[in-house]
Amino acid sequence: MEQFHFQLGGAIGSQGFSNFGEKPKITIGTIVSNRSTIKELLKQYENAQRIWKGILFENVGFAQIDTSLETKNIGREPLSKNAPLTSLYKKAVEYFLIRKTKPDVIIIYLPGLEFKRKANGLSLAYDTKKPPYLIVVSDGVKDYPWVVAHEIGHILYYTNKFNNRDDPNPYLEVNDKGEPMRDDQGNLKFDRAHNNNKNNIMYPRGSKSSIPPKVTFDQMVKVSNSYLFDNRKML
Ligand SMILES: [Zn+2]
Repeated sequence: MEQFHFQLGGAIGSQGFSNFGEKPKITIGTIVSNRSTIKELLKQYENAQRIWKGILFENVGFAQIDTSLETKNIGREPLSKNAPLTSLYKKAVEYFLIRKTKPDVIIIYLPGLEFKRKANGLSLAYDTKKPPYLIVVSDGVKDYPWVVAHEIGHILYYTNKFNNRDDPNPYLEVNDKGEPMRDDQGNLKFDRAHNNNKNNIMYPRGSKSSIPPKVTFDQMVKVSNSYLFDNRKML
């Protein structure tokens, strides 16, 4: 599949991004546990910038915090059901508010390689329904250079202003033998948040390769419809 180096910022069809001349921007606030280092994340941010060409990722602040929280204490369930994480998230929001900023996304980096109940993953993106959206990353970022880029993709899908949240080429779930899975009605099972192409940034499993995963034209159009690019939020 060819890779489009598509520049956001011009109108894309009728639903496209319309403020000419201004690069769409995502602001990121970063919280790192005292047992982790921001260096790993900065590499991830550079990589996210390489993947989502045309979107400007702006680092609006960074803090290191003392916390005993580890990724294994944190689950895939909604933020409201993740008590310790919710309280850390609230503190993070407050930290940025005091500094007169409200990031679109807060990224929290905690120690550990595994989430609660072995929820798959190197990281989790939470649909908080309003900014700041939340991404929690694990020490897996050290081996998987495209983790943050992938999670930002989820946030851009969550925030689709037409509520069109599915990947344009959804992932067909397969069993251990590689056979397509079906639901009780016999329909093929799709994981619609992810992409079916192994080389794609939204493929469910992360890549260790230094070669950037691909983004399709359809995906670029989709992410250009995130409402995060419309409302430049002021305090
Ligand atoms: Zn994912």
